[in-house]
Amino acid sequence: MGKITIAIDGYSSTGKSTIAKQLARALGYVYVDTGAMYRAVTLFAMRKGFIDENHKDVEALVNTLDKIELTFHYNEELEFSEMYLNGENVEKEIRTMEVSQFVSPVAEIEAVRNKLVAMQQEMGRKKGIVMDGRDIGTVVFPDAEVKIFMSASPEKRAYRRYKELLDKGEEVDYDEVLKNVQQRDAIDSDREFSPLRKAEDAIEFDNSDMGLEEQFERMYNFALRVIGKQ
Ligand code: C5P
Repeated sequence: MGKITIAIDGYSSTGKSTIAKQLARALGYVYVDTGAMYRAVTLFAMRKGFIDENHKDVEALVNTLDKIELTFHYNEELEFSEMYLNGENVEKEIRTMEVSQFVSPVAEIEAVRNKLVAMQQEMGRKKGIVMDGRDIGTVVFPDAEVKIFMSASPEKRAYRRYKELLDKGEEVDYDEVLKNVQQRDAIDSDREFSPLRKAEDAIEFDNSDMGLEEQFERMYNFALRVIGKQ
């Protein structure tokens, strides 16, 4: 049976990566978390002092983009691919609130997007891939056979992210997480280059009141039907 491309887009903290990982495992496909790539570039920019609360030096970041090497390495124990920035495992560091705070301002830079989109297209050249992000069904793989757009109320999403961060031992405040989720949504949706929007042919899933298992079952069955037609 022919392999397909599955594009999963949607707002922050809608559970995209959880579902995408499960789908990839069930289908024997590769999973790519494109948010991790934008987060790694952001971490690089923060470390170099190109971005902080008071400024964003777009030119300096764009001029050093070719010094950023991003790779994924599969961790057998955790059963997923971890993000490496110039050979260093940054998986934990890119998930902090600090990186979340600066990632959307970095992701709106055209040159950053061009670099990462080209890498993502290359990774999916042979199909058999589940990729999640904001512009996968619209820009990275407009011809993907399965496109899913996930949404849920900001409060539900913030609560999920809040719990996730608490479980990881980070000291966070719910209102701060909600503010971050709303700010990222706004920047991601309003940016000039490849803004977050639902592709016309994407299926929308609002999972405010739907459990993970039910969502997975629905998407998995849908993907199997599409694969069966290849
Ligand atoms: O998916 P995650 O929440 O980790 O993504 C972090 C941020 O990276 C998003 O808020 C968005 O600004 C950016 N992003 C993007 N395009 C993608 C994936 C992520 O702009 N394909």
